Formats: sequence, C-alpha cells, structure tokens
Amino acid sequence: MSSPRVRFAPSPTGPLHMGGVRTALYNYLFARKHQGKFILRIEDTDQQRFVPGAEDYIIEALKWCGISPDEGVGFGDGPYAPYRQSDRKALYRQYAEQLIAGGHAYYAFDAAADLEAQRKSMEASGSAFSYNAASRMSMQNSLSLTAEEVKERMASGAAYVVRLKIPSGETVQLHDLVRGDVVVSTDQLDDKVLFKSDGMPTYHLANVVDDYLMKITHVIRGEEWLPSAPLHVLLYRYLGWEDVMPQFAHLPLLLKPDGNGKLSKRDGDRLGFPVFPLNWTDPFSGEVSSGYRERGYYPDSFLNIIALLGWHPSDDKEIVSLDEMIQEFSLEKVSKSGAKFDPEKTKWIHEQYFRKQPDEVLAASLKSLLSQRFGFAATDKRMADAFLIKAVELLKLRVQFENELIDKGIYLFEAPDTYDEAVLTKKWKPEFEMLFAELSVAFSNSSAFNATAAEEIFKSIAAQHNRKPGELLQLLRVLISGQAGGVDLFPMIELLGQNEVADRVNKALRRISSMTIPSFKN
Ligand code: GLU
Repeated sequence: MSSPRVRFAPSPTGPLHMGGVRTALYNYLFARKHQGKFILRIEDTDQQRFVPGAEDYIIEALKWCGISPDEGVGFGDGPYAPYRQSDRKALYRQYAEQLIAGGHAYYAFDAAADLEAQRKSMEASGSAFSYNAASRMSMQNSLSLTAEEVKERMASGAAYVVRLKIPSGETVQLHDLVRGDVVVSTDQLDDKVLFKSDGMPTYHLANVVDDYLMKITHVIRGEEWLPSAPLHVLLYRYLGWEDVMPQFAHLPLLLKPDGNGKLSKRDGDRLGFPVFPLNWTDPFSGEVSSGYRERGYYPDSFLNIIALLGWHPSDDKEIVSLDEMIQEFSLEKVSKSGAKFDPEKTKWIHEQYFRKQPDEVLAASLKSLLSQRFGFAATDKRMADAFLIKAVELLKLRVQFENELIDKGIYLFEAPDTYDEAVLTKKWKPEFEMLFAELSVAFSNSSAFNATAAEEIFKSIAAQHNRKPGELLQLLRVLISGQAGGVDLFPMIELLGQNEVADRVNKALRRISSMTIPSFKN
C-alpha cells in the first residue's frame, strides 16, 4: 500500500467518549502500520452544537493516550492547514456552487416552520416526510420555483440552503473494508442539506471536500456514519472525484455490557465505570464525569482495553502493547458485530499492567501521591525510598491501581483515628488492656526488632496471659491499623518500626478505654 493518509474528524460537541478514542486509535494503528499519516481534523461547522472546551479536551485526550496525530489542530500544521473547518469556511461555497451548476444540487427556501408543517401533515396521514424526488417539487426551491422567483428571493436576502439532488431509482454501491459490499437504493436517501445561508457547509459537504483536499485515502469511522456513506459516494461522483475517493471502513458499535444497545454515559454511571478518557466538566451544568486517567488507568492499559473493543490480535492474546498492535492491526480483522464493553475485563487488563510495574516505579508514584495529598516533606521517614518500596511490596498484590496504594494502605502512612468497631465488639475484653500494654513495652524494648522478633514477642506475651494467638491477632491489627484486614501483620509491624507500633498501640488503648464497646456492658 502506498503510504495512506487517514484522519480522525471529531466534532467538538462534547468530550470524546471511548468509541471516539477507538476510532482515533484504529486510524493511528493503520497509519503507523503502513507508514502513513494520521491527521486530526476538527469538524465544527455546526455552530449550534458547539461545546466550549470540547476541542481542547479531544487534543488533551489524544496526547494522554499517546496517539498523537502527524498533522492537525493542536499538533502542528501539515501541508493542508488549516485543519479546523470553521477556519476553512471560505473554501466550501465554490463546491456547493459547482454542484448546482452541474445540476446535482439546488437552492431551497423552505422555512423551518413549513418543513415542520409538512412533516406533521405527512405523519398525520401515516407516512414519514422526506425531502426527496417525490416531494421536492411541492416545496419552495430552485427546481419548483421559476428562475425569476429564485432571483428575487436571493436578491431580497431570503434565507436558503443548498440541497443535494438525489436521483430516484438508482443504486449506490460501495465496498466497506469491514462490512463488505454495501448496496443502497437512492430512493432511501433524502436531499440532504449541504450548505446554509450563514455561509457554513454542513457536515456532509465539508467532510467530503476536506477528505478530498487533504488527500485522505481511507475513511475509518464509527458505524453510525454508514448510512451517510452512499451520500458521500454520490458527492464524490458529482464533484468529479470518484477516482480518488477514499476507501471506507465503518467500525462496529460499542455495546452495553449486556449487549442490549449502544453503550452510553448512563451505563457507566449506573455500573460504575467511566466512558471518557479524562474527567470532563460540563461547561453548562458544571457536572463532572469521571475519566480513565483520573481513575488511575495508564495510557497503555487504557489503549489495550480500547483496542480489543472490535479487534483482536491473531493469537487472541489479551495483553497487547501499542507496538504489537501496530504490527498486527488490519481492518479486515475488525469485527462486523458490535463490541460488548466488559467492565470486569477492563479492570483485569489494567491490573496486568499494574502488576508489571517495577516496585521502584510504584514507590516513586506513591511518593508523589503522598506529597500531593498529605504534603509529606521529602525528609519525612515515610518518604524514604526503602520504606516506600517495602510498603509497595506489602500492598501490591492487594490493589489494582496506584491510588489504591494510599486509599487501601493509608494505615502504613498514618496512625488510625478510628478502630474497627465490629472487631472490637466481637473480640475485645477489658483484661486485654494490660496484655497489649505489656506488648507495647516489649516491642519498644526489643533489641533486634523485625517481623520474626515481633511475632515471637507477641506469642510469648499471649502465652504468659494464657491466651491463644488466634484470639488476639486481629485485635492487634485493629490497634495498629484501625482496620479489620490488610497487609501481612508482622511484616507491617516491622515496616512501621518498634516505636511507631508501640505508640499506636498505646494510643489505641487510651481510645478504647474511653469507648463504650457493647460487649463491655455485660
Ligand atoms: N465529524 C464526524 C463525527 O463527529 C466525523 C465522521 C467521519 O469521520 O466522517 O464523528
């Protein structure tokens, strides 16, 4: 294949969702695999749907994922700049006029209210209204009106649009690289608006013109655009560009986890997973939607998750690096049927990346999280590399995300203020106060303190009080960590050190003596 040019062409109507990232990723993989170019074009001709911040969000999301375009808005100009359609406004009109001159498009003056009235009256008689060969002569346009009337309307500044004149009774064929041959009758198409009197093209015209001018060879986009593809084929034909028309590949829908319909933000909210790469704050409502980045996913794990939604490498392996994806990607291997989103698999894939992180790397992240969240000074002993690496070793198998190293391991960094009441209620006895006080002293006095020594000291004090270790172990954990469960107890004690542990036990005993624990009452 001579070097292809592909594009990701989002409209800035909101944050990029997972499906959008997947479209960008497959375009990127295709370009890299075939030594081609990947372009970002912002399709912002529909000013009514423009959402402030969406364009910056799209750029930031692509940067975070590490799938940077070679040319395009936010990534440096290439030979076909500008890449934002509103900045290209002046160049579309000539193509609308070329279509009119060739008899493939016409002016239409119908007011929105008239179109609405038509729609209602058709619906009342049980059929749907379509602006097409059957209805266009009864509408207000340059085909139904005389040349004189059209001239007058234009001269008086009447609002108009340019519509594509779809022929009746023809078939349009295209070969989709994912879906195979697609054949559509033009009777199923309507006379789409191509250009508006505000001087802006609609999506269809701008998209085709720009793909042509930017020498796009393959259009890889979501399945929701498949119904527009025949219309685009006609546009290429009528503009005389059919010989350089790009090839199409329409990617399958992303489906809800139960496979029942298209995946939406509401599914994410309901089932507790993000559908956006980054947090997004709605500029109108202020509502914040969570993103994979802020949840603690890595760009690599996120891309791996996204890549498998509709494609898989030849050996079906589930952990695939970006380089492997580039090696193996092919549009022929993209599935035709919708891709079910599986939140559990998503976490599992990330977990594999998390587990592969060297302890030193996780310790470094932990260090910066601790300084961000708690303001720990660099000289704090909890910020020492050796301490953090040991903390990581203890916590790593119990968590899946870096931020959980703190969320689920907080007791390694701070003495607790509360103590698991369920455990205390079930297991605490007033006579244990003495036992644990002795234990605390013994820990402080130990001359060679480590996990083994701590365990021996604990067992011998339990024996002196005629208690089985099993009666006391969980209580010891609660006194030190506040929690009923967590990392291995004696290694944790070793990590915290004898003085810290002794202080924590004493603090807990003071707190417990002032608590009303239900079992004390009887
Ligand atoms: N602007 C369209 C969108 O928002 C692009 C469709 C296409 O890639 O042709 O998805």
